[in-house]
Amino acid sequence: MTRLALALTLTAAAACAAPETFTTSAGALQLTPIQHASLMIQAGGKVLYVDPAQGSYDGLPQADYILLTDIHGDHLSPGVLAKLKKAGTVTVAPKAVAATVAGAKVLSNGEKTTIGPFQVEAVPMYNLTRGPSAGQLYHDKGRGNGYIVTYGGKRFYFSGDTEAIPEMKALRNIDVAFVCMNLPYTMTPQEAAEAVRAFHPAIVYPYHYMGSDLNAFAKALDGSGVEVRLRNWYAN
Ligand code: ZN
Repeated sequence: MTRLALALTLTAAAACAAPETFTTSAGALQLTPIQHASLMIQAGGKVLYVDPAQGSYDGLPQADYILLTDIHGDHLSPGVLAKLKKAGTVTVAPKAVAATVAGAKVLSNGEKTTIGPFQVEAVPMYNLTRGPSAGQLYHDKGRGNGYIVTYGGKRFYFSGDTEAIPEMKALRNIDVAFVCMNLPYTMTPQEAAEAVRAFHPAIVYPYHYMGSDLNAFAKALDGSGVEVRLRNWYAN
């Protein structure tokens, strides 16, 4: 093994799980799970992070683009943003998040924008019933964004923190979905699976799943025709 190859191997091993590679009409897209809801996309020579907040960023490249979903600490980390930002980094966030992130571009539920080679659509994420106390929700409708990122004709959906809302069930033509599940903040694996059956992506990855039974999720999708990919999002 050359010294360069060894260094790359060590960097990858230290930082996060192995990257997932997808074929698109614009070439390969690599998606690296970092931890919990944090991930990195590399495509077309650009680097896009979704919710860089959890896990280690040592050895990872600085960001061309950053998408943020919500105000909570498992999605928004000023320290990590400072580390990943460089001159020209474009950050996209809902209004409640952008208020605390200098220079962030506001994107609200239902709005679209283009950043470099990526088309980005903000979609709703919110609780239907669960909250810290009666009459309150962990995630109020309209505050946070899920995202659909399109690259080379492939549509990647990142749910953010949500229950199985009608807007999620109504999604169509999703190639790869990243769907949250964890109590008490979002939903059960069974609820997540029910939503996935409704919008029927080609591939689904559970993410943001700390403490959840992934086998129950996979079992609930048996026979659905949706490919379930279980990965360790808590390796570091
Ligand atoms: Zn969360």
